[in-house]
Amino acid sequence: MREMVAISQDVRARYEAVIGLEVHVQLLTQSKIFCACSTRFGDPPNSNTCPVCLGLPGALPVLNREAVTMAMKAALALNSTIHPHSRFARKNYFYPDLPKGYQISQYDEPLASDGRLDIEVDGKPKRIGVTRVHLEEDAGKSLHEGFPDSSQKSYIDLNRSGVPLIEIVSEPDLRAPEEAYDYLTRLKTLLLYLEVSDCNMEEGSLRCDANVSVRRAGTNVFGTKTEVKNLNSFKFLQKALAHEIERQIGVLEEGEEILQETRLWDSREQRTVGMRSKEFAHDYRYFPEPDLLPLAISEEWKGEVRRSMPELPEPKKARFAGVYALSDYDASQLTSSRQLADYYEDTVRRGADPKLAANWLLSELSYLLKAAGKEIAESPVSPERLAELVALVAGRTLSGKMGKDILAEMFSTRRRASEIIAEKRLEQINDPAKIAAVVREVMAANPQQVEQVRSGKSATLGWLVGQVMKATRGQANPQLVHDVLKKELGS
Ligand code: ADP
Ligand code: ZN
Ligand code: MG
Repeated sequence: MREMVAISQDVRARYEAVIGLEVHVQLLTQSKIFCACSTRFGDPPNSNTCPVCLGLPGALPVLNREAVTMAMKAALALNSTIHPHSRFARKNYFYPDLPKGYQISQYDEPLASDGRLDIEVDGKPKRIGVTRVHLEEDAGKSLHEGFPDSSQKSYIDLNRSGVPLIEIVSEPDLRAPEEAYDYLTRLKTLLLYLEVSDCNMEEGSLRCDANVSVRRAGTNVFGTKTEVKNLNSFKFLQKALAHEIERQIGVLEEGEEILQETRLWDSREQRTVGMRSKEFAHDYRYFPEPDLLPLAISEEWKGEVRRSMPELPEPKKARFAGVYALSDYDASQLTSSRQLADYYEDTVRRGADPKLAANWLLSELSYLLKAAGKEIAESPVSPERLAELVALVAGRTLSGKMGKDILAEMFSTRRRASEIIAEKRLEQINDPAKIAAVVREVMAANPQQVEQVRSGKSATLGWLVGQVMKATRGQANPQLVHDVLKKELGS
């Protein structure tokens, strides 16, 4: 194998990458797409099987309506056209985990086509075409490892055989690994909002194949593409694309041609390796599935599905920015998941100032959750209690610093802010007379520093404020301390 030569910035700048993604998503239905078997993950091997998903002769598939509904939600959210008639087709190939010898998929008449998903490039929106969304069944799983006789045998688990999938194919509109990353992130967010998949890349409920080519900047014909598989994390997607783009540029710079092939990302070696070239490409001998009727979707059904869909990330973001007067950044952070957005709105509904609630949620509470490895839905601090804390800070009962300490304690003890404050008598000191008393003590104890401030060294003023804060265990209102100190120093 040829070693990769590092590509200089100059050479890199002479090329443009072209990327299209094919994404497979497992749908969260209770039962499989063509039989009543459970789709539960992690059950004992081959326990969720029946003649249909085992591919026994004579067993007939029956389409799961819920799988179609979920696929329609995804298609509608991607602004694609759902066809009144679509068709299932047999995709024929041999593999031990495919008991029928064919996969039921959709081919020339997919469920939906001509969609789009907007990503962001340099702060500007960019429209990525979605070629098609179609339904298909998953294959089983080959288990090559983990058994005492794994060196001689492979085992097959058919629990996954017949689990519903949708395939979402993008147009070759992406131009950089970061764009592909952004596209996949937004697609995942959308599907999670719709609750049609759990989109777990590591567990395989979201799988992504990347098609890549490069061309001289300024030309508009596409170069020969390769298809990179085995991308089971967002990080791998970006790394594999960056690597594959460099590799292709290197090949072209040497005056050679790109071989149209499938390549695998090898995460240990951090490179893509050739798997099979186009000459060995499958001929799937697609033909219409004779055991299923064409799929008919009425306007009524479409309308029903549309009405059952939640508010999607983009409109929610715009609404948050408008209604709660948040920055674009905060609005997009808060709508990055439906759970976070719901938590936020719940907090505001319970009386918290929208801007303060956003700050506390996106900084302090998020840090605590992250450190504890928890999701927002598992937060020990409820929206109601966060709202109470935010109100205490807004009303100056607590300083920001005290608020942080109390939130940390609320998080670990599951108690309310007011309880913790009452117990520790932690309220902020806002009484100028009380503060003046402490200020005078601090001045008396530090005559040298007092002299420095009086002779114009203003940095020392901050130090004196710090001493007063320390003496009051952080409870004094810092602004008031500052004002009182200035007054006392002046006299
Ligand atoms: P194939 O015939 O290999 O199935 P398709 O035209 O169906 O190819 O496209 C499959 C995927 O590859 C799509 O996501 C598409 O956007 C992408 N694609 C097509 N041509 C190119 C290209 N020249 N460079 C990069 N990606 C491409
Ligand atoms: Zn079954
Ligand atoms: Mg194709």
